[in-house]
Amino acid sequence: SVPAAILSALSASARGGVLFKGGAALESFAAVTQFAFDKTGTLTTGRPEVTAIVSPVMPEDEFLRLLAGLEAHSEHGIAAAVRREAERRALTPADMADVTAHPSEGITGRDAAGMVWAGNPRMVARMGGDISGAAFNAITAGAETVIWMGRDTSVLGAVTVADAVRGTSREALDALREAGTTRITMMTGDRRPVALRVGKELGLSAEDIEADLLPHDKVRLVDAMTRAGKVAFVGDGVNDAAALARADVGIAMGAAGSDVAVQAADVALLSEDMARLAAAHKLARRTARIIR
Ligand code: ADP
Ligand code: MG
Repeated sequence: SVPAAILSALSASARGGVLFKGGAALESFAAVTQFAFDKTGTLTTGRPEVTAIVSPVMPEDEFLRLLAGLEAHSEHGIAAAVRREAERRALTPADMADVTAHPSEGITGRDAAGMVWAGNPRMVARMGGDISGAAFNAITAGAETVIWMGRDTSVLGAVTVADAVRGTSREALDALREAGTTRITMMTGDRRPVALRVGKELGLSAEDIEADLLPHDKVRLVDAMTRAGKVAFVGDGVNDAAALARADVGIAMGAAGSDVAVQAADVALLSEDMARLAAAHKLARRTARIIR
């Protein structure tokens, strides 16, 4: 039977919006000494805004209509930002068929004129596109997330999106450090300049920031961390599911995150207040001391 102390900790955590899938998850969490956080949608709000459009070969609105046509089929936070911007401009998203998501890279589809794609530099490379042109210098040199869009091998342009760090992320990381956490890392599929900018806001040093990752890279990095102690991975996306499953404790952003992430996790964070996570860790550790 489950000790009363665990039951009471489970229910207290649940009232704070931290749902453990059982007493064993709470006990594992108590033993965690290292945290790996996804960036987008976890440490940041995941509700980015379009900040600029660079579209050298067509009018901005036409560009956005095409991109919104692709992103109409995606549940990524970036996709929602693109759709909102299209809506704000009263644009009807272009019709797209065969839309396929490529986690941590982007999205591909087909319109009447042929193949259309959007995503990060990895997606550009996969399509054989070239983003070295002068028209793109300013955005490639910047520290914002860039979504490139192209048709076949030609790059049509890009939008930049900016995503705010959650107001409670810094406080949560500081609390985890104060409580003796030995390592905190940030892992992201986004570009390194963006990751470094966000990491700096959170008090993370460059060696604790891993960028340009694919889902399996997150798994490999979590695996490597487990050699130094128990690891919790905190993430929100489909791209985090494998790392959530691999970590000693997987923690999914429950309210804003994807269902796949919640299913792969041991804990769901229903509150967007990251400080609740640090509080739950404290409570789990206190409870483990009582029952031992
Ligand atoms: P994180 O690991 O920080 O949560 P993701 O792995 O979800 O970030 O995304 C990494 C990058 O992949 C994004 O910054 C974006 O460039 C690209 N990407 C992923 N999904 C999409 C999409 N639906 N549309 C455009 N770009 C995307
Ligand atoms: Mg994410």
